[in-house]
Amino acid sequence: MPTTGANPELAVTGGSANPALVVNSGSSSIKFAVIHPGSGERLMDGIAEPLGSPEVVLRVRRGQAAAVEERVPGTAHDVVAWVLSHLHQPDQADLRLLGAGHRVVHGGEQFTSSVLVDDDVMAAVRSFSDLAPLHNPANLAGIEAVRAVLPELPQVAVFDTAFHQTMPPSAYRYAVPEEWYTRHGVRRYGFHGTSHRFVSAQTAAMLGRPLQELRLVTAHLGNGCSAAAVRDGTSVDTTMGLTPMEGLVMGTRSGDVDPGLLSYLVRQTGRDVDELTRALDADSGLLGLSGVSNDMRTVVASARGGNGRAQLALDVFVHRLAKAVSGLVVGLQRLDALVFTGGIGENSPLIRSLVLGRLGFLGLTEDAEANADHGRHSGGRISLPGPVLALVVPTDEELLIARDTARVIQGD
Ligand code: ADP
Repeated sequence: MPTTGANPELAVTGGSANPALVVNSGSSSIKFAVIHPGSGERLMDGIAEPLGSPEVVLRVRRGQAAAVEERVPGTAHDVVAWVLSHLHQPDQADLRLLGAGHRVVHGGEQFTSSVLVDDDVMAAVRSFSDLAPLHNPANLAGIEAVRAVLPELPQVAVFDTAFHQTMPPSAYRYAVPEEWYTRHGVRRYGFHGTSHRFVSAQTAAMLGRPLQELRLVTAHLGNGCSAAAVRDGTSVDTTMGLTPMEGLVMGTRSGDVDPGLLSYLVRQTGRDVDELTRALDADSGLLGLSGVSNDMRTVVASARGGNGRAQLALDVFVHRLAKAVSGLVVGLQRLDALVFTGGIGENSPLIRSLVLGRLGFLGLTEDAEANADHGRHSGGRISLPGPVLALVVPTDEELLIARDTARVIQGD
């Protein structure tokens, strides 16, 4: 089967002629894709939302064709059953799935890589639900739905946290009472691991250098934002922590705040901790600062139109990101490349330019023409040549899940 250079992270060995079903089952939507792990070809993909309503809208695309809309009853089971019974079009030969790969948000300290799903794995994922109450139960519902329709199909769990399990204690421990860690698992786990892992390997392939020799900071900037320090192919630090709320400014999440603000605001406003936490999660970030939107495109357009709050949102977003990148270099002791990915990282030359403008002291100088050129589907170097580079590298978490699914099932 095709492999990507000599890069073991991106390689699929063995015979995986059959595609994998990739499922990202969330609390309000299910995203799915049918992907050949070897070639990366997408036979079908789509999204169903809003889950839980009597009827969900299922937008499905086959190959390069335009998306079509279907309406199905609104449970994860109904959506998965529809997808599995519509895998092929009438004129196609039967399509056999090699297995299903699921995005699972929290694997605690137990899962350091992707695993074949069995009852013990499901129980463990359930046991981490306290750490990810919105995500893990929804991820399990996706696994259960596939199992109910195709009980024999092997399933693989791919964890957002697994890639960061290589962080040393100096990076993952909080300076809090020991018992909070030993009894309650309070530590930094990190998220977006699949994306950080994918773009790290992709960067090595683009640079033609072994991943095992590279020191990278990868910045995944989407609705959620996180950056990671990747040394020799392993994560040694990241900005997200116990939950995906720590770290960078995001679309609606605050990122880092003083933990003292919670008790202060409880006293000041009479609102309880849950309510305030929801506001930090859903009413903060770009949305809270700008008052305009959580969408970077809208914030940029408002700032250009003279909206001072939108400009402030950009300033804080960029300052905090540049500060985090330089902090992450401490875990690397040398920076070879800063990698931008995710919706903002891949599509916003402006944000990339503003961040690079603050990081000249690391040896990064923007190549303005290259930066302006690199859109979502291209990727490449956006800094002037030198020992430290900045790159845009499009992420593809679904492809990595398909490849892990093939690898785990084939036992490679
Ligand atoms: P998710 O984290 O939900 O997967 P994405 O990775 O698609 O989200 O990123 C969504 C973010 O990307 C939004 O803030 C959106 O405004 C931003 N984005 C997409 N295209 C552009 C663009 N051309 N310029 C600036 N931001 C963009």
